[in-house]
Amino acid sequence: MNAITLDTPLDGVVGGRTSAALKKALGLSTIRDLLWHFPRRYSARGELTPLAGLPVGEHVTVLAQVLDVRQRRMQRGGTLLEARITDGFGSLQLTFFNQAWRAGQLIAGARGIFSGKVSEYRGQLQLQHPDYELFDQPAGDGRALPELSPEHSQQLDEAAALAFAMRPVPIYAATSTMPSWTIERAVGLALDAVVGTGALHDPLPGEVRRSAGVIALEPALELIHRPEAQPDWQRARDSMRFREAFELQLALLDRRRKLAAVTGTARPRVTGGLLTAFDAGLPFTLTAEQIEASDTISQELAAQVPMHRLLQGEVGSGKTVVAIRAMLQVAETDVAVGSAAVEVEADGAAAGAAVANATGGRATVGGQSALLAPTEVLAAQHFRSVQEMLGPELTERLHPVLLTSKMPAGERRKALLALASGQAHIAVGTHALFSEGVSFYDLGLVVVDEQHRFGVEQREALRLKGKNPHVLVMTATPIPRTVALTVFGDLETSFIRRVPPGRQPIETFTVPIAERPKWAERAWVRAREEIAAGRQVYVVCPAIAAGTSEEQDAGLAAELAEIAKAETIVVADGRKPEAVPLASVEQTLAELSERPDYRGVRLAALTGAMKSDEKDRVMRDFAAGNIDVLVATTVIEVGVNVPNASTMIVRDAERFGVSQLHQLRGRVGRGEHPGLCLLLTHAAPGSLARERIEAVAATSDGFELAERDLHLRREGDILGTAQSGGKSTLRLLRVTEHGQLIEHARELAAQLLQSDPELETAPLLAAQLAEEARQQSLDNLAKS
Ligand code: ADP
Ligand code: MG
Repeated sequence: MNAITLDTPLDGVVGGRTSAALKKALGLSTIRDLLWHFPRRYSARGELTPLAGLPVGEHVTVLAQVLDVRQRRMQRGGTLLEARITDGFGSLQLTFFNQAWRAGQLIAGARGIFSGKVSEYRGQLQLQHPDYELFDQPAGDGRALPELSPEHSQQLDEAAALAFAMRPVPIYAATSTMPSWTIERAVGLALDAVVGTGALHDPLPGEVRRSAGVIALEPALELIHRPEAQPDWQRARDSMRFREAFELQLALLDRRRKLAAVTGTARPRVTGGLLTAFDAGLPFTLTAEQIEASDTISQELAAQVPMHRLLQGEVGSGKTVVAIRAMLQVAETDVAVGSAAVEVEADGAAAGAAVANATGGRATVGGQSALLAPTEVLAAQHFRSVQEMLGPELTERLHPVLLTSKMPAGERRKALLALASGQAHIAVGTHALFSEGVSFYDLGLVVVDEQHRFGVEQREALRLKGKNPHVLVMTATPIPRTVALTVFGDLETSFIRRVPPGRQPIETFTVPIAERPKWAERAWVRAREEIAAGRQVYVVCPAIAAGTSEEQDAGLAAELAEIAKAETIVVADGRKPEAVPLASVEQTLAELSERPDYRGVRLAALTGAMKSDEKDRVMRDFAAGNIDVLVATTVIEVGVNVPNASTMIVRDAERFGVSQLHQLRGRVGRGEHPGLCLLLTHAAPGSLARERIEAVAATSDGFELAERDLHLRREGDILGTAQSGGKSTLRLLRVTEHGQLIEHARELAAQLLQSDPELETAPLLAAQLAEEARQQSLDNLAKS
């Protein structure tokens, strides 16, 4: 017989039917799957209710003794089992349909705890299909229950009842076909099968366990599923949570160590070349922090070990220019490239010929960089700002191309050719960049913009388009340290905390419409005053037209859905949130043009639904001062720089994420005039939605705001799809709550790796890491 391990399939342990149901309902197929399906919460059985005076319709738990049991066939078929129970004062009927086998348990005299919902049938109180647990199981061999003296009996009952009532009941994430108590039973069988067999080897070295104060794996699993009392499951859950944090940090640190052992291509800086020309053409001088980050990056690019760096920065701190400088360094370095495998989708022959032409037989063309953005709109904006920053000459030399999935086929093919031939040194695009048909001549640097919308896997997919290229990840706004450690724990970090000098302060105010209708009106008057003073105004709306909504990236949509789920968007005037139509660009334009005081004010719309050339025209007009009020969706979130714009009004501010609002308001206060940002909202005071908006109003420091935002998110996993280290690792760990634990786990993981890099003292951990790495490379093989 094979020894039972955690990988043993469930059917032999819990039976064929239950295992099939567990698989279907919850996707659990091995003992490990089941034992790591932790209870979502625990409920106390609670107070015992006396049988006299039971409340109909309520859930009760009673301590009682079976008086008598009757069984009968029902007219319409099936059986009915009725048991009468009493506590000496009142009595209650239990009914079970088609469960005649319970007659073997519920015999007269048996005592236990019964719990269920009280109903009334023909004047008789009853519990239908109650949950119950008997204290003195009738002996299977037919012996009668021992006679007890009344006092003794009562004592025994009370002690047992107390223990039973105190014992927390695990409540599992369940489905209608797989109720919690069935899971509980299956987990019990699985535990019985493995506890004491040595199958639950603890992968954590004793040293780590002691430093972290966690209990061994076997008791931890036992107590998380079968606690006797509340402190049991709390201790067990803390231990299992630490294990999650530790294993994740170990994987990230190990990944970082392994990446450092890989060789890529050195792209050293060339003095007096493109970079010098670029710097000379910049209309500003770089800040000290920009220079510091740039220098670090420059040195890392010059090494054979690929760079893996996270650049965190405040909104408007000038990360783009740092990224472009890195791209220039890569573009400048001529590296001998072997015969690059050139594949262009569809017409391969024509492409091959074109490549031969474009490269003119040269062996070296300088390295390429890819800049990855999360949405089409952002990619297009990045593309434009790259061109702008480079200026005409460098643009011509470096030939940046845009690549998104919505491009016309002809344009796309041209871009693909330019990349495959090495003619284009910079590619800006969405995830279309790492789709199948894309190949680079010599991809030297991958830049991923915009925080944690991309996961490790996507970063990895793009990395595979080159031979161990350097990687730079940039966040759009600062992120909390614990999120950085969890999502980007495999990267080194640089910070740009301050925006360039000369920026004006931005004042932000919450304008609660329902409570303060006059304030809302005042917002429009205030904007009008700015226009009269010659300044310009942005108005941001969540929708383009009534009944529509602007394109949202998946990460934000998930964040907002999470907030909505927590039932926190409460509208102050009593309406349901969905009954309040979203403020739209169209409607706002109409409203403003009808206001007498806005007569003569030049209004224009800017939305993602407009054609690119139309958008360009509007943006140029606004930048030139030919438009006073730009009514827009979040398309202006990034890349828009109009120094004369002083005021921003955001309508339905509760529809935007905290970092999105922070990013949005960064559009004003860019010139000589102080910025003003008014956040109009329907969110009721005290609601989470309102607190988030107030947090944005309370601080303009993005790093501080990020921490506040983290604490405001009570439930849910803010990592979304970006979880590091594989699919199913985070069950108990929440970066929102367990910051200290994560830090501690990281310290201990680093200590372990330092004293024992190959994990010889922790072979089980080593095996886990190897397995994870193997799975990841399989995933990646499947993708590339
Ligand atoms: P973010 O870090 O938010 O991506 P950007 O890279 O878009 O910020 O830069 C914001 C604006 O600041 C741009 O218009 C850019 O040209 C400008 N900028 C960048 N660095 C400096 C600097 N050192 N001095 C003045 N302006 C700068
Ligand atoms: Mg940016």
